[in-house]
Amino acid sequence: MTSQLTRELFDEVMVPNYRPQQVIPVKGEGSRIWDQNCKEYIDFAGGIAVNSLGHCHPELVEALKKQSEQLWHLSNVYTNEPALRLAKRLTEATFADKVFFANSGAEANEAAFKLARKFGHDHHGDSKHEIISFTQSFHGRTLFTVAVGGQPKYLDGFHPAPGGITHLPYNDLAALEAAISDKTCAVVLEPIQGEGGVRPADIEFLRGVRALCDKNNALMVFDEVQSGVGRSGHLYAYMAYGITPDILTTAKSLGGGFPVGAMLTTAHIAESFGFGTHGSTYGGNPLACSVADKVIEIINTPEVLAGVSQKHERFRNQLNKINDQYGIFAEVRGMGLLIGAELIPEWHGRGGEVIAKAMQHGVMCLIAGPNVLRFAPSLIIPEEDIDEGMNRLGAAIAELTS
Ligand SMILES: *Cc1c(COP(=O)(O)O)cnc(C)c1O
Repeated sequence: MTSQLTRELFDEVMVPNYRPQQVIPVKGEGSRIWDQNCKEYIDFAGGIAVNSLGHCHPELVEALKKQSEQLWHLSNVYTNEPALRLAKRLTEATFADKVFFANSGAEANEAAFKLARKFGHDHHGDSKHEIISFTQSFHGRTLFTVAVGGQPKYLDGFHPAPGGITHLPYNDLAALEAAISDKTCAVVLEPIQGEGGVRPADIEFLRGVRALCDKNNALMVFDEVQSGVGRSGHLYAYMAYGITPDILTTAKSLGGGFPVGAMLTTAHIAESFGFGTHGSTYGGNPLACSVADKVIEIINTPEVLAGVSQKHERFRNQLNKINDQYGIFAEVRGMGLLIGAELIPEWHGRGGEVIAKAMQHGVMCLIAGPNVLRFAPSLIIPEEDIDEGMNRLGAAIAELTS
């Protein structure tokens, strides 16, 4: 059967919304992956910032196995022990008092945006429904989340979209000051824009957003789907900035590869999601929550979080070294293990070509838009894998520049 499971089959039987790489990975261990032909790759992509503890981490395998022999699913007609345990852990580790579980980042954001509307409605009336978001932001692919996201091309052909949403330039406090009003129910942002090119927020900007939200009774919503769960070198990026949101969403790294998402908020705001207002059949699934609980337990330690910052330096040094040799990056930026290397103007549009060539040389990397290489590896990637992966990336770039 395996011999018939080819990349060509993808084009035959899959909806063409994705265009995956040519090889098909079949096995992973730590930060290494093997394809159908047993070729080995270093994984700097981490399943798009998802495989926070690499592939098949023994403690996650154990947590999943154990729960899989206990109880798989109940629905929210009943609660379950893994969900309660994870909710307790998340509330103890963050500003939040309350948790809503979902299965993906988009669903966590859908819940956050609906809650912000509902809270505005409950406390200030129907006119308080406007959402302010930022260009280049990404919040998911449901119709509401794509409408809040700041990349209009993702809405092409899907109109009419939900209304009452304004997009402003990111890191531009004056623009927000001019646009925010008593009709604003929420200001939504990624503290580090991921898909939009790995752009961290300026601290003055976040401080200003917090103050303007307070002044206008608007909720500050942080989408930490990509930046959360240790990726920034802190459990959540808001902790790195020291600026606390009213609602936070988390997914990707939270499950380490098992689909799960969560929305965190305060007890007061959570009251607007009263009985029957919102829901999800799978949200809080015991399998997902068992794995996520283990993920947080492992990551939320001083050793692992400090390791993320050390590995950041190693990535940055290696990227700078490549750049000294080939001069193709205009800037290397990011936080923790969410790192972007922006290509120089002469190389604009060639990000996809670089990561395809890198695959040929045995290293998996990502792009964030056509001009930025993105690295979102396991938070516990060994140093030798960083060095080896960077050698391979260097070789790929050497071939492209020769
Ligand atoms: C990936 C991502 C999402 C969407 O998550 P899905 O699990 O794909 O629905 C939302 N927000 C941010 C910041 C993301 O990076």
